Amino acid sequence: MRIQLLPSSFDAGGSANPAQRLTCFLIDERVTVDAGSIGIALTDPQRRIVRDVIVTHPHMDHIASLPIFVDDLFGELEQPIRIYATEEVIGLLKLDVFNDTVYPKFHELRNQHGNVMEYVPFEPGKEFQVAHLKVTAVPVNHIVPTVGLLLTDGRTTVAFSSDTAETHEFWGLVNRAERLDALFIEASFPNSMQKLAEASKHLTPLMLQKELAKLSHNGMDILAVHLKPAYRETVIRELDEIGIENLSVMETGKVYEW
Ligand SMILES: [Zn+2]
Ligand SMILES: [Zn+2]
Repeated sequence: MRIQLLPSSFDAGGSANPAQRLTCFLIDERVTVDAGSIGIALTDPQRRIVRDVIVTHPHMDHIASLPIFVDDLFGELEQPIRIYATEEVIGLLKLDVFNDTVYPKFHELRNQHGNVMEYVPFEPGKEFQVAHLKVTAVPVNHIVPTVGLLLTDGRTTVAFSSDTAETHEFWGLVNRAERLDALFIEASFPNSMQKLAEASKHLTPLMLQKELAKLSHNGMDILAVHLKPAYRETVIRELDEIGIENLSVMETGKVYEW
């Protein structure tokens, strides 16, 4: 399985910058987890292939350029872009984003081949198929309805915490998996901002350390993501200080393979 955290910040010359402002993981060039930078960071060949988008929650950094992505492809889509989310999140996307005010209700629109966008609801705790992947989602502890994900292609299994503070069900799901090759976990704020992390339902490196104590798998790669760009250097240093083997900060743009 190949996973890339798409870049969302670019230097003056147009090259990708390590700061992560938007969240969008590209899996095997065809499925994304969240869609923050989907409309700005995919290559043309990738844009021709990606039709399956899992949305963990409707925060802007996770969906920012999804409307642009659908819009750009509108005339050429031969199958709809499928948006997988819980009923709750689909309801919020319909109400707040694809509402004919912020952007068109693309799920009601067609091109010459048919529908251009389709909502595919899934139920927490029940496995569902997304392209070549089997996916299970469970609620995590964030300020809007949000799910963490366990994904497998039958050979490799990975888990995404999405945005969350201290959480439980997610670790139960991950621990029940036969194997775990990689864990993507958020680390938004530095330790000194724990109050804000708790209020906005995110993790600091010390909170992340406590969460990892709930994990029963060993030896997998742990990739910290969602570092707030303003505190990036501090969070990187504090993650280093907790001294967890196999823990590193995920590099934007780099293709990781398991
Ligand atoms: Zn969020
Ligand atoms: Zn976020």
